[in-house]
Amino acid sequence: MTEKLLHAATAEAAKVIDGRAFSGRMVDEIAIHVSELAHSEGIVPGLAVVLVGEDPASQVYVRNKGIKCRAAGMRSFEHKLSAECSQAELLTLIDRLNSDPTVHGILVQLPLPSHLDTEIVINSIEPAKDVDGFHAVNVGRLATGQAALVPCTPLGCLMLLRAQLGSLAGLEAVIVGRSNIVGKPMAQLLLRENCTATIVHSQSRDIASICRRADILVAAVGRPEMISGDWIKPGAVVIDVGINRLEREGVAKLVGDVVFDQAKSIASAITPVPGGVGPMTIACLLANTLTACRRIHGLPDSRAFAAR
Ligand code: NDP
Repeated sequence: MTEKLLHAATAEAAKVIDGRAFSGRMVDEIAIHVSELAHSEGIVPGLAVVLVGEDPASQVYVRNKGIKCRAAGMRSFEHKLSAECSQAELLTLIDRLNSDPTVHGILVQLPLPSHLDTEIVINSIEPAKDVDGFHAVNVGRLATGQAALVPCTPLGCLMLLRAQLGSLAGLEAVIVGRSNIVGKPMAQLLLRENCTATIVHSQSRDIASICRRADILVAAVGRPEMISGDWIKPGAVVIDVGINRLEREGVAKLVGDVVFDQAKSIASAITPVPGGVGPMTIACLLANTLTACRRIHGLPDSRAFAAR
């Protein structure tokens, strides 16, 4: 079935994977689970988002997270600290959220101002509430196949891939980029799905020929349109995580890491930028908050959303 899907579309334009529609359906489904949880157990999942400073992009992300959270019937708590806040002040807030029973997920919006130690801050979050999946305990659990909270962006990519391909077992997956946020957890998730997973990065040699082997190509580089059509195997599924802001002919534009118009005539399916992976990230944050809440209360995962 998967082989057929991978090779069927090579003569036609690729299917454009609509992450916006997919994530919309996911949020609707999460809302149903949240409402059932409230009725059956009297529990309402709560997400606390901590924003340090006034970075405009971070403010937009935090506002959107709050809106989506409430739309799914969850509680949303926003904590804003000044850009000059001390590490001790931030750690005290996280400590308070760790022991607050109405909070099931804690997210510290990154990047933090440079005087704060991101690693210490992330590792001070209670792992059971670490809905970003960045805590070393969750990273280790993912790597060793234990129940983890998984970073939202790669989890969203995985959901799109499963929806597109069904079983991923045996497929050759190449991930471009090795960040802790996207590349590495993506590779771990694809390994779990029994793919043959290869990560390439800025020191890799002959990246183009490695990419050309990929049945699944995940681009998470942050370099506008680095991956051209001739890097793509005919029939591959291409997941473009990159979000790059460009100005073309005086007009601001968002582009991915892949040359979309070239890839479209070679791949069998591709995520657009914007409207592909981006919307999935927030939907997976809500899914992780629901998962964290259920686990904290000793309830089994809702199978549709948890990555085990
Ligand atoms: P990072 O900058 O943390 O990592 C980029 C990775 O790309 C690094 O591993 C780097 O290699 C590698 N790289 C850089 N240049 C090259 C090159 N020329 N050839 C091969 N590899 C290269 O970025 P993130 O992982 O955080 O994000 C990647 C992209 O995804 C960005 O555009 C970001 O905006 C986007 N993003 C989108 C999200 C969404 O919701 N859709 C969420 C998170 C990120 P090395 O390690 O050797 O330096």
